[in-house]
Amino acid sequence: MKPVLINSPSLANCSLLELGDNVEELINAGVRFLHIDLMDGHYVPNLCFPMRIISDIKEKYPDITTDVHLMAVPPEDYVQRLADAGADYVSFHIDSTNFTIRMLNALKDAGMKAGVVINPSQRIDALSPFIDLVDMVTVMAVEPGFAGQRFMERTVGRVLDVARMRKQAGLDFLINVDGAINYPNIIPCVHNGANVFVTGIYTVFRQPDGIFSACHRFEEELKKGAEEGFDSDAY
Ligand code: ZN
Repeated sequence: MKPVLINSPSLANCSLLELGDNVEELINAGVRFLHIDLMDGHYVPNLCFPMRIISDIKEKYPDITTDVHLMAVPPEDYVQRLADAGADYVSFHIDSTNFTIRMLNALKDAGMKAGVVINPSQRIDALSPFIDLVDMVTVMAVEPGFAGQRFMERTVGRVLDVARMRKQAGLDFLINVDGAINYPNIIPCVHNGANVFVTGIYTVFRQPDGIFSACHRFEEELKKGAEEGFDSDAY
């Protein structure tokens, strides 16, 4: 597959009082994916965003792709509401349901792209029984639930493991990296086959020169990583 590299800023890093302005600034800076964390206080010990954020974004910016990260149990309960809200990609945690294949099919049947999320403590080969059904695999670089954590270095090798699995199966799903992305660690993730980068406070938000410049800097960094080349096992 041709390498695809996408900046997907996580709106959980915005000040809620500036959310609308931040979204507009991201879009003006060329962002086309927005990462939306939905947390229920049960799967993770935190709460984040009502589902209406998706429909509000899609109403104002219909061409923007919503990259929804569902941290809720049971995920099956949210499929129809996510479809009604206009979600594009919906990714759920493989340990949030006993019926991963059923959940993947339910998302697709409802017209959405289906993704799974794997935590740092879970084995990558747990993905193999349903790898042919996914549109996206998100490799968590932190334990989910809070912004502002540190990137786990082991993530870089795990991204390559997923990319090898993709190559061996002849598939073209997107590999997403979520959690504490910053400049030393983004480049090896690019080399190892990651496609979607969930950006936060180390790259795009709360930067002294503002969101617009920070997004352009991030794009440059992605380009630089791509110019250096990709691991032959990744593609
Ligand atoms: Zn997320």
